[in-house]
Amino acid sequence: MSARRLDGKALGAELLREVAGRVERCRQAGVTPTLAVVLVGDDPASAIYVRNKGRRAAESGIATRDHKLPASTTSAELLALVRELNLDREVDGILVQLPLPAGIESEAILLAIDPAKDVDGFHPDNLGRLVIGRPRFVPCTPQGCMRLLALAGTELRGARALVIGRSTIVGKPMGQLLLAADATVVLAHSRTKDLRAEVERADVVVAAVGRAELVKGAWIKPGATVIDVGMNRLDDGRLVGDVEFAAAAERAAAITPVPGGVGPMTIACLLANVVLSAERRAGLASD
Ligand code: NAP
Repeated sequence: MSARRLDGKALGAELLREVAGRVERCRQAGVTPTLAVVLVGDDPASAIYVRNKGRRAAESGIATRDHKLPASTTSAELLALVRELNLDREVDGILVQLPLPAGIESEAILLAIDPAKDVDGFHPDNLGRLVIGRPRFVPCTPQGCMRLLALAGTELRGARALVIGRSTIVGKPMGQLLLAADATVVLAHSRTKDLRAEVERADVVVAAVGRAELVKGAWIKPGATVIDVGMNRLDDGRLVGDVEFAAAAERAAAITPVPGGVGPMTIACLLANVVLSAERRAGLASD
């Protein structure tokens, strides 16, 4: 293997230490950074995500308020809770864990969150701000990818960057961040005609698809930087990314592993957004 392995676990831990220092400064200013976490129903994966977020928040000194609601919760009940949290002056961030149960109108719920507390950065107001280059909260997974690219020392100005996947939570905001960093950006998706040709041209590849090893190592341009967002569980229990790791590592200059790459950065970036929101409440940061 010749590529540098981009250690998201170590970088995430470093970011969490920085967050803990900023939490302390907020506390000294009389503000306790607080994240409200709303979990509806009993999806086991969501329960694990929420538990991990709570654990990391506590380690950083961020207070959490857990709201666990039954799967039978109605849209109106959830909206009422969101509005209550919007008005609670002590809550800096509101996280509604996705996916919500089928009966709930997810879009209406996300729209109801006060954009100033939308630490996921999914509200249209925040996504719009990202597009005009004045972000309030940068969505956590793309933010983590940008931090990993900075760790790699990849020159983004003028680079050809390929983002595979166009979801609102990963692909689209990732494309905007790369564009803001002066890369020439291509967003590929399921209708892209020749994915291999796109990968072969790219100096930077960000794969966010959700298909095990879709991107073959042989496609990677020698010297490229590869960020693998995908998390795919194989039948034998192994967790793999969207990129064929070992073969890609033979050609890339730098690559993120799965697990231990993008995943740990996402939680750290979420908590960085929470402390940023608290700093604004404490008058330590501007909007
Ligand atoms: P998503 O909403 O399902 O979007 C997947 C995207 O991949 C879609 O835009 C889809 O295209 C595209 N796609 C599907 N098949 C393709 C193909 N054969 N060639 C090219 N593009 C293809 O997924 P997501 O929420 O963005 O998540 C993507 C992956 O990242 C998942 O594995 C997820 O678990 C992982 N993830 C990881 C983290 C983390 O913290 N590590 C965070 C979020 C997500 P269309 O738009 O045309 O359908």
